[in-house]
Amino acid sequence: PSPAALERAESLIAITPDFPSPGVLFRDIGPLLTDADALATVTHALAAPFEGGFDLVAGVEARGFLLAGAVAATAGTGLLPIRKAGKTPRPTASVDYALEYGVATIEAAGDLTGRRVLLVDDVLATGGTLVAAISLVEQLGGTVTGVAVVLELSDLGGRRRLPQARAVFTA
Ligand code: AMP
Repeated sequence: PSPAALERAESLIAITPDFPSPGVLFRDIGPLLTDADALATVTHALAAPFEGGFDLVAGVEARGFLLAGAVAATAGTGLLPIRKAGKTPRPTASVDYALEYGVATIEAAGDLTGRRVLLVDDVLATGGTLVAAISLVEQLGGTVTGVAVVLELSDLGGRRRLPQARAVFTA
């Protein structure tokens, strides 16, 4: 994508202070998703560094689903939706991870033996979600060959836990 297209896409990430709780500067990719050019730009930018290196795209519920679907459709690969606890009838893998307050669980089912997986998400903050997702994919027998996010929040430490991650935008 051209620098102008990227700049325009980045401008469509809305910033809301104190959502969902006081002190959080929330980055909403909603306006970017509804814009055809911006969505295409970001979808290509997420996949480009890993072209040819993955045959499955995984995203964590809920916004990771949207990006994973778009990237998988563009790249011509399969799609793995990683779900929050309690939504998968017979999960074969489950990972607990720490949130700012409390813990969360992600689950999935299936056999990913031999699959090369690109993990995508909207925002890389502390990295907890993506680290858990890597472990989940590995429990299912797959190999994570790439991690791509739309926006990395550089002062939240995610980069230290995910040195291999590629971010389209950094704030
Ligand atoms: P983390 O596990 O801390 O890297 O948090 C990443 C997950 O929480 C991502 O799936 C994001 O959707 C969401 N998230 C965390 N911080 C923000 C933020 N400031 N704005 C928007 N989403 C966020």
